[in-house]
Amino acid sequence: MRLQHGKDTQEVTDMQDIPETKTANEHPQTVQSVEPTSTSLPALMPRVVIVGAGFGGLNAAKALGDAPVQVTVIDRNNHHLFQPLLYQVATAVLSPADVSAPIRNVLSKQKNTEVLMSEVTGVDVENQRVLMKDREVPYDYLILATGARDSYFGHNDWAQFAPGLKSITQATGIRRKILLAFEVAEKEPDSEKRRALLTFVMVGAGPTGVEMSGAIGGLAHKTLIDDFRHINPKEARIVLVEALPRILPAFDEGLANKARQALNRLGVEVRTSSPVEAIDSEGVVVAGERIAAKTVIWTAGVAASPAGQWLGTETDRAGRVKVGSDVSVPDHPNIFVIGDTSSFTQDGKPLPGVAQVAMQQGNFVASLIAARAAGKPHPQTFR
Ligand SMILES: Cc1cc2nc3c(=O)[nH]c(=O)nc-3n(C[C@H](O)[C@H](O)[C@H](O)COP(=O)(O)OP(=O)(O)OC[C@H]3O[C@@H](n4cnc5c(N)ncnc54)[C@H](O)[C@@H]3O)c2cc1C
Repeated sequence: MRLQHGKDTQEVTDMQDIPETKTANEHPQTVQSVEPTSTSLPALMPRVVIVGAGFGGLNAAKALGDAPVQVTVIDRNNHHLFQPLLYQVATAVLSPADVSAPIRNVLSKQKNTEVLMSEVTGVDVENQRVLMKDREVPYDYLILATGARDSYFGHNDWAQFAPGLKSITQATGIRRKILLAFEVAEKEPDSEKRRALLTFVMVGAGPTGVEMSGAIGGLAHKTLIDDFRHINPKEARIVLVEALPRILPAFDEGLANKARQALNRLGVEVRTSSPVEAIDSEGVVVAGERIAAKTVIWTAGVAASPAGQWLGTETDRAGRVKVGSDVSVPDHPNIFVIGDTSSFTQDGKPLPGVAQVAMQQGNFVASLIAARAAGKPHPQTFR
């Protein structure tokens, strides 16, 4: 895929399908050690390694641009991804280039910063090194900002039938599936098969499930309305299923009710208190009833990246690292875990996994590190 960026074009590679497997104990014996080699990075300044250039990591890197430190940003992709608009890529409203930006280009003006595209596989805490398949990078300060991944609640076999929506590869795969379903339905004489082709099921009625089902509703009821001769796109069946008694459980009930009404207007069938019991190539089983559907999208659960396993530290049930008041890992004042992969408790409640929290934590941790490097005082509590 080519990503337009001003006059330049840059190759974009999405490597999110590479499994995250290796831990510190498993890392290969023959690895290349990446000492601070760059001629442009001063060798004596503390080295800050940031893993993940999502909302948290990229913000931290930008905030360290003028700090007396050398920064290495590592991401398995070469692009920063604006996840909140992925559903628009999945429904053909936006192109991938509209929701991503090359990390290298974003940080190109920062002379103290280098970017490595690589999959991190672990952390050697004792020797202060970040581990990748073929290399290791030493750090004085480490910021882990590796986000979240889909969680199928122990049913990993469902992933092949119900992709999640966390990467460009997934979004374009879903887009292909949705558009092809309408195309194949147009040619399908069998009414039952046509019905299954035109049935779209979203599993999980959090923000992503609500946005996705609304967007498919818009596609079927507005965008495609005049484009077919043998099917009526309006007859597409869009089902949003949720195990809990209401949609958008993390939001105010009044707002959730309004969202439900808006979905109904777009022809979306909302089924609450309806746990999904099975997913296969023919559709889903919801609360004992089989719904034949050729497109099922997983919008239900996420778990943190394996950063907690890399560090061997305490995590919550979703695998998020429990961090202290300055967002550092207990007993490791130079290791910070921010954003979706961190569990930060404020006023007795964990902060939600949203972009603002990740960005603010990135800024806070960057200014804390910059102050420490400059020998200046800094507030020790993130708020
Ligand atoms: C479909 C969708 C819609 C959303 N809508 C909203 C919204 O409307 N509003 C809102 O506030 N939030 C929304 N969110 C949540 C928001 O996107 C996240 O809270 C935010 O991205 C978290 O930022 P982060 O920096 O922790 O992780 P991310 O932004 O996920 O970044 C993690 C980075 O780490 C990299 N990475 C992961 N593992 C490795 C590894 N092993 N090695 C190297 N690199 C690695 C990834 O490639 C990625 O670049 C949405 C999320 C999704 C998926």
